Parts: sequence; C-alpha cells; structure tokens
Amino acid sequence: MLVVPLHQHAGEAAKPVVRAGDHVLKGQLIGMPDGFVSSAVHAPTSGTIDAISLQLIAHPSGLPNLCATLIPDGKEEWIERKPVDYRDHSPSELQHLLRMAGVVGLGGAAFPSDVKLRIGKQKISTLILNGAECEPYITCDDMLMRERATEIVQGAEMLRSMLDAHEVLYGIEDNKPEAVAALQQAIRDSGPALQQGRRHEVVEVPTIYPVGSAKQLIRVLTGLEVPSGKLPTDIGVQCFNVATAYTAHSALAQGEPLLTRIVTVTGNVHRAQNFEALIGTPIAELVALAEALPDTNGYIMGGPMMGFPLPSVNVPMVKATNCIIAASERLFPAPPPAMPCIRCTRCVEVCPADLQPQDLFWFAQSREYGRAQAFSLFDCVECGACSYVCPSHIPLVQFYRFAKSEIRAREHDKKLADQARERHEYREYRIKREKREKAEKLAAKEKAALNAKLAGAQPLTPQQQAEQAELDAQRAHILELAKSEVENTRQ
Ligand code: SF4
Ligand code: SF4
Repeated sequence: MLVVPLHQHAGEAAKPVVRAGDHVLKGQLIGMPDGFVSSAVHAPTSGTIDAISLQLIAHPSGLPNLCATLIPDGKEEWIERKPVDYRDHSPSELQHLLRMAGVVGLGGAAFPSDVKLRIGKQKISTLILNGAECEPYITCDDMLMRERATEIVQGAEMLRSMLDAHEVLYGIEDNKPEAVAALQQAIRDSGPALQQGRRHEVVEVPTIYPVGSAKQLIRVLTGLEVPSGKLPTDIGVQCFNVATAYTAHSALAQGEPLLTRIVTVTGNVHRAQNFEALIGTPIAELVALAEALPDTNGYIMGGPMMGFPLPSVNVPMVKATNCIIAASERLFPAPPPAMPCIRCTRCVEVCPADLQPQDLFWFAQSREYGRAQAFSLFDCVECGACSYVCPSHIPLVQFYRFAKSEIRAREHDKKLADQARERHEYREYRIKREKREKAEKLAAKEKAALNAKLAGAQPLTPQQQAEQAELDAQRAHILELAKSEVENTRQ
C-alpha cells in the first residue's frame, strides 16, 4: 500500500483528480497543482486508488492531511512517457513541464522548482548545485552523485539554460571524494553536450556545518553575501540541490515525473543504508529493512540538527524525506536542564548568519517580537549550531521557531482584520453613494416636472421667482451635504 499526500511541497496542496476505485498507471497525475506556488502529484506505480482521505503524514504538526491511498497491482505499468529536448522549448514551457512533473527542491524544503526558475527580469550569472549534505548522518546526495553524476550534470545544464546563467558551480564537501571525482568525470564526458563557453566546475568546500545551507554555500563559493531580507536571485545567483537537477533531467529527458527519491535510513539500526523508494512508501517498511534495533525510542525525519520527530513510524515517505534516523537514548540523550545565559558569546561565534543569538533568545523569551525582527530573526536558518554549543544548554533554536510562528500568526491575523475593515468601509461608502445617487435622481425628476409645468404656465410673479430660487438653493445645499458625506467616507 502506498499513501501519497497531496500536500508534500511548499505552497498550496494539489487538488485530487482521481476518485476511490479508479485504476491508475504509474506516473499518472493524481493531484493537479492549485495556485502559483504548487506542484503536481502522481501515482508512484500502477494500481487502484483505495481512498482519498485524511491520513497521518510526516509533518511536525502531527496533523492528518489529504492523501491518496494506492493499492499497487504489481505490474508497474507506465503512462505514455513524452521526453522532450529542452533546447526546442522556451523557459516558460519547460517551467510548466517541471510543474506538471511535480519537480520540487529535494534538499528539504520541497519548494516547487518551476517557481524558482521564474526570475522575471532578474539576471542570473551563477547557478549553484548544492551537493553539500547539510547535516551529519545524511548521505543520500553523496550516493546520488556517485551513481548518477551524468544525469545530474545534464539536469544542471537544463536548469542553467532556463536561467541563462553563465556558469554552474557544484559545491561538494571535501569529505566526499568519490562524489567529486564522479561529477568531474561526468562534466568531462558531457563536454560536447554542454553549451560552448558555459563553465561547469566542481568546487570542494570545507566540511563544516552548516555549509550546506544555501546562503552559506553561496558565500563560500562566490564570496557574495545575500543581504538580509533578500533572495539569492537579487545578487544574480540561484541554487538547486543536486537531486533536484537529477529529477529535472528525468522529467524532461525521460518524461518521468517525480515518483521516487533516495532516502538515508540510519541511526539506531543494524544496516544503515540508502534506499531508492517510491513516494508514499510507509517509513515503517524502510526501517524494518534497515533493521531498527529494539531500544529505538523514536524516529527523526531529516538530520539531527534540523530534523523533526515523526508522529509515528506508520507515515508515508514524501518528496522531502531525505533521511530517517532511528533515535535511542544512547544516540540522543535527553539534554540537561537549561541554565541562565552567561553571555559567553559562543553562540555568536558559530552563527553562520552573523546574528546575535543570545539577544534573539532574550527578545523571543520576553516576547519582544518587534525587537527580535529588528535583530534579523528571519535571517536565522534554524541550523541549531547556537543551541549545540551553548554551555547553558538553552534550546535557543526552539525559541526562534516559536517567535517566528507567533510573528507569522500575528501578521496573518492583522491581514484578516485589515481585509475585514476594508470590506466594512467599502460597504459604508456604497450605502452613502447610493443615497446620494437617489437624491440626485429625485432632484432631477422634480426639476424636469417643474420645467414642464413652467413651460405651460404664466410667467412667475417676482414673489414666485424668489420662492423658487430659495427652493433651488435648499435642494443644492442638501445635495452638497450628501456629496461631502460620501467623500469623507471614501477618505
Ligand atoms: S539557529 Fe542559531 S546559529 Fe543557526 S542561524 Fe539561527 S541563530 Fe544562527
Ligand atoms: S552560548 Fe548560551 S550562554 Fe553563551 S551567550 Fe549564547 S545563549 Fe548565552
């Protein structure tokens, strides 16, 4: 049984386009992207849709989400695959193909790749391929680079051509010599396939956590700093994970949507290894294959620093599942109780974003969110390095996550309140405008009736003329009052 969540990417969930009882082929669309930031979802194999229902998924909230449950028929029958030559298509056509192939960032955030390729009028000079596994334990990208380097290089060239970038830099940690050698060989072998004058180069970066975070890697590879509150594209750089490039190649050159990914299963297991598994595979199946040890007391999705505990091992694998760590008391002992901050500044020394973590902690703890924002809270990449080195064992990153979610919730509430206020003001304005229009119509009608009467009547006496003038002045005054009331409401 495969359970495929319809919301496994950043942005809006895909809309289900199949129903319980439908027979589907491998690669068939089962979830249509809905909204600008959204991505398609496909049947990972052929079989029958058993249900479209709420199921527990791999998410920190532990809340259920809409999923398609698929009972495979074991035949692996494909839909008709339609490979394309990317050189025959415009960037916008290729972006659409990637969106419909469900290609999202596989480094962890699962941001739809087509959106990252829509750069408008911005000029991109450097495309960075992130091959630096962000955290300890994770080896899925290392394995992919060793085994599928040619497809990664070709996929990178496709992404480069869509961005019209001048060069592609592959950032790989220096503890992965096999991956470095494989990619260098693939670049040499692909030489003629790469466009003339476009540089593809592998750059070894020091294995220092968190070099794999995008902003950090950009700084190490190019010397450029992404300014606070800006995106890499603002400085002419775009960044994709190596696995995303591989998936883009599969989508375009093979016509195959994103149905599988490589996942590391490690930690408190007998056989730590990487699996290439279908999206929707129950994680319980993978940890059983890796032979989780009996004293396992939970599972983490992602790395030990930025990952989150799974609500249950019976959740399905999703596109963002790069690693599953079986946890135990031995591997992850409970942290000692937090002590007061001693202002040692060790957290400052390790922060890759050059923040003041101890000040952010103070503001977050005292709920001074405005000051936390002024100290660039949202530049924090939540790497957890500050928490790791803190001698007072303060779970700093938890405070930042909480503060960010509070700020986002407040901004959301404010937006809703603003919308409600605007709706109310517009209603007031509309009512007054209708009142004014009514008054104007009535006045025009009365005037027309009077004119008709005057046309057939004797000339007015001076007294009648004075009375008429006074009547007209009163009407004009009433109209003016109605108009100014409407104007005040509009302002
Ligand atoms: S988690 Fe800590 S070290 Fe990492 S970026 Fe945020 S403040 Fe800096
Ligand atoms: S490392 Fe911990 S104790 Fe030291 S300044 Fe930072 S928060 Fe305070």
